[in-house]
Amino acid sequence: MGANFVRAMHEQISKSQRRGLRRRAEDVDDSGREAVPESAAPAPRMPASKPVVEFRGVHMSYPGGTTALDGATFAVERGEFVFLVGQTGSGKSTIMRLLTKEIDATSGTVRVAGRDLAGIDRKKVPYYRRNVGVVFQDFKLLPNRTVYDNVAYALLVTGHSRKEIRRRVPDILRLTGLATKLHSYPDQLSGGEQQRVSIARAFVNHPPLLLADEPTGNLDPETSIGIMQLLYRINRTGSTVLVATHDHAMVDRMRRRVIELESGRIVRDEATGLYTRDENTREFAARMRGDFPAGPEL
Ligand code: ADP
Ligand code: MG
Repeated sequence: MGANFVRAMHEQISKSQRRGLRRRAEDVDDSGREAVPESAAPAPRMPASKPVVEFRGVHMSYPGGTTALDGATFAVERGEFVFLVGQTGSGKSTIMRLLTKEIDATSGTVRVAGRDLAGIDRKKVPYYRRNVGVVFQDFKLLPNRTVYDNVAYALLVTGHSRKEIRRRVPDILRLTGLATKLHSYPDQLSGGEQQRVSIARAFVNHPPLLLADEPTGNLDPETSIGIMQLLYRINRTGSTVLVATHDHAMVDRMRRRVIELESGRIVRDEATGLYTRDENTREFAARMRGDFPAGPEL
């Protein structure tokens, strides 16, 4: 894969944003909790460029014949925060797996930063994946490694020096509210703390794209709020964030873009949506005719 592609991805987080990130790391307390800023300015818009994620007519059939995606078309622009919602089996994780190139689309095109993933050689996939941070429902931490080492590992495999690792790991652990847990092992942490470690690990390389598949699926509502705020903070540093979730309360609270899947098809895509569509068909028709102002009043 071209070095240009990797460079283009990395340029999406400018040096100044990285500095901003380090500064912001200092204003989170140890629990990492802070109020979601209701009226925060949108993420900085960069000069017009290719969408970070682009699905065009994507079909995905698993061996055995299950159709997981049935003509999915959508694009996510740089800096967006997007929720993927829909019932179990609707195709959310399939979208995530296509984006990490764990699987390949049966037909249609999946592009990341303009690059058609079908054109990436299997051998080059590990390099491609450096641009995509992934957070899972079950954390997937290394059980026999400390918090520090779990995060350091992500830097080690991407070829960073010991010195760089010693500088970066404490920074990211502060940002994620884990400054006092450096030497703990995963089984000594709460679920929320473990998810913070996994987010730190996913973000320590500053990937332009961060995917989170049901990141709050194993957490209680209070803890979930802290996790979602952390993902939102990461988004504010310039990373594009895609979150698959069943968490109605969270989606309704955050009021970000919502893409809804039903049996592998996109049935809704709203700029600031609720988990469930919040207007009936008559209201929708009226809005389309111009009887109501568009969108929620902020
Ligand atoms: P979601 O994440 O929304 O629950 P998935 O993308 O995991 O949905 O699954 C979409 C559909 O594809 C489901 O019908 C599921 O059973 C099927 N599926 C998912 N993974 C596989 C697989 N590895 N092999 C066969 N079918 C699969
Ligand atoms: Mg899933």
